[in-house]
This record gives sequence, C-alpha cells and structure tokens, in this order.
Amino acid sequence: MLHPASKKCFNVSCGLEYDLYNDIYLCSCGWLLDIVYKVRPSSNLINTFFERRNHGGNIYNESGVWRFRDLINFVGIDNEDFDSCARVLVSLDGAEGRLSRPYKMTKAAEYAHMNHDTLFLQPEGYNPSGSFKDNGMATALTHAKMLKVKRLVCASTGNTSASAAMYAANEDMECDVYVPRGEIAPGKLGQAFQFGAQVMQVSGTFDDALSISLRNCREGGGYTVNSVNPFRLEGQKTIVYRIMEYLDWNPPDWIVYPGGALGNSSSCGKTLMELYSWGWIKKIPRLVIANSSGANTLYELVNGFFEGKKLTWNDGHPDLEMIKRYYSYRDSKGMFPKTAATAIQIGKPANILKALRALDFTQGIVTQVNDKEMSDGMSIVGLNGFDCEMASGSVPAGIRKLRDEETIKKDDVVVGILTGRQKDPRLSVQYHTEASNMFARPPRIE
Ligand SMILES: [Zn+2]
Repeated sequence: MLHPASKKCFNVSCGLEYDLYNDIYLCSCGWLLDIVYKVRPSSNLINTFFERRNHGGNIYNESGVWRFRDLINFVGIDNEDFDSCARVLVSLDGAEGRLSRPYKMTKAAEYAHMNHDTLFLQPEGYNPSGSFKDNGMATALTHAKMLKVKRLVCASTGNTSASAAMYAANEDMECDVYVPRGEIAPGKLGQAFQFGAQVMQVSGTFDDALSISLRNCREGGGYTVNSVNPFRLEGQKTIVYRIMEYLDWNPPDWIVYPGGALGNSSSCGKTLMELYSWGWIKKIPRLVIANSSGANTLYELVNGFFEGKKLTWNDGHPDLEMIKRYYSYRDSKGMFPKTAATAIQIGKPANILKALRALDFTQGIVTQVNDKEMSDGMSIVGLNGFDCEMASGSVPAGIRKLRDEETIKKDDVVVGILTGRQKDPRLSVQYHTEASNMFARPPRIE
C-alpha cells in the first residue's frame, strides 16, 4: 500500500526518506526528520474544520488536535469514519487543544503597549495536563500505538513528563521520565508520579537528562516522546491552525513563543511553510522566539553575540561547527542555564536547526527577557483572569520589549502562545509578597 506520509531528513544535502514503521528519529547523517505528506490538501477543508466544531459527540471533532486530522493524517485513515479514528488515533477523550484559541487580554495589551484589539494570547495551559505538550503527545502516541510500543521514554523540565505520563496511563503504556533533580516545578513532578510514571532523577541539567534518556531508548528499546520525535511536532502544528481559524485564515503579523527546546518554533515554521506552499495563506507571519536571559543559546548565536558572527539557516548550510564551539565554550566555563522559568531552562536546544529554518522562512527574530520581566508577564496574564507559568510570561514580556524597540508596531496583529499553566504556586506567592514588583498585591495582615 502506498502510504500517505514518510519521514524525510531535513538536511538539504541529504533528504533521505524513511517509512513510518520504525522509531527512527535521526537520519544516518545526524540530522532530525520531518514528516512529509504525499497529498496536497484542498482548501475546502477549512469549511470542514469549522463544521466539526459542532462536534455532535464525536471526540475527534471535539479535540482541537484531531479536528484538523486531515492535515496530520500520517496514519492514512478515512477521516470521516468514526470507527477508523477510534481504532488508531490517541486522544484524551477529545480534550487536547479543545479550549485553546486566541483571546484578547486588555490588561496584557496595555502592559505590552499594544492595541487592545490586536494583541491575542493563546493559553495552551488549558490542555488536560496543563501545557501545550498534549497537542504533540496525542500524535506521538498515535505513532507509538501504530508500532505497538509498550514503553515511552522522555527527558523533561516537567511539562513533557506530565503529558507523556498522562497519555501513557490512558493508553496502558509504561513511561520512564528523566528529570533534572531539584530543577522542575513541584506540581509537574507530582503529575509524573500521580500518572504512574517511573521517575528517574538526574544529577545535572535537562540537557544531561535528555542525553541519558535518548541513550536509554537506543539501548533499552523505549520510544522517545521528546520533541526530537517528528510526530510531536506534527501535533503542535494544530496550535497554529487554531490561530489561523480564529483569524479566518488571515495570518497575524507576528506569532510569539517562549524558546526552550525549540520544538514549538520549529513546528510553527513547518506549519507556515506548508500552508504557504498549498496557497492557503498569502502572507507569512514573522516568528518571535523569546529566550530567558538565563538560558539564551539561540539569542546569543542568532544575534552574533558569540564570535561576532550571526548564526543563520544559510540556505540549509548552517554553521554546525560554531554551535559545537559555543557548547564547548559554555561547558568548559561551567556556564549552565539558570532561570526560575524552569520550563525553558535548556542550554542545548534539540531543535535548534529546525528553528533556524523557521526563523529564515518567517524573517523571525529572537529576543530575551530576564526572570523579573517574565514574572511581570506571568502576573499580568493572571490579572486578565487567565493562568500561565513563568516561562509563558516571556511572551507578553518579549512583546513589550519589542514594542518599546518599535520592532513591533502598536497596531500589528500579534498572537502569543502561553505554553503552560502555573504549576509552581510558590512563584506567584513570592511575586505578590514583594511589594516592589510591578503588579504585586501583597497580603495584608489582619
Ligand atoms: Zn540525512
């Protein structure tokens, strides 16, 4: 049977293709893989997606991921047939992506010096495990189920393990999660235990945990659900579909993400490349990646703060040696990522090359914000009645910074992704206890 999709190396000098019936995520040349589809989808699907919002009890229409299943149909099923969907698609009862879409938040707009009507923030924390990860976990587990996988493995700063453990429990799979000891939010660690994962605490950084977990997969036969897995990024494309649908498929001027392992920004770039190549969109939004200043590998490399030369996609020939020199330099000086926004406390982003491709395609930019700015960003989202974690606070904070630099114009249409819900309530308490903070409302003693 001719399968509708394959894995393809995104190294322009290689382009080797692999079929889907294996867990290979790395090409023999060392680059990661993309999922590529054989069929160009018809734009009539835009109406289908809209009609499915009236889901009629069909969880695959209710799901904000599988509602767009025609665009991520790597399993090659008849999308209109409920039984076909139920046999192969993994969903937490239609909950992933169901509540996330852009919202106007007027106080956040004022904080970011934007128009009330042109700034939108999309809370991906309203996913069942509390972060955007569920978008990609639904698709990664669908592939895992296709391969009859028994054991998932991941490294995590917290949200990936929570999401993986939740979906694994629901699908009756085992799940091993590697976390940097003492460096993840207590709420996230609690979720991994609660959902029955085997937690492995690693003395070191997330980057150490990732390399140990990938070795475990290679040697122990587990299936990785980190964002090196291209099926994760396919599910995360639906974050962008929901933006586009909300804006009647008129692309915004900017889409803003926090920068951690860079899976989201890579996925966003791939989504826009596909939509543009199909003729579904005529304009390409510019991507903004907001790093924490304590974990700012991409910011430093892309903006030329290392060796005085800017790292670029360079038509598919990025300077890989420069990235290696940067990592060696940081390691030799004992410079490890450090930020209270632990979700993005990552020094060696696994998807850095795909992110460079995304930045190139979208004329994107990389900014950075410090912990105090992220706390302000997190808090102003809270004052709009929405919840987000500190890493997501980098989004309003980054927009404010780019507004003040006049990079973003006041009436530009901007959509920022709030990647996760607050799972470390101590940060909110600390913020509001300190009266000098911008939005603090300290407790009164009665
Ligand atoms: Zn290759």
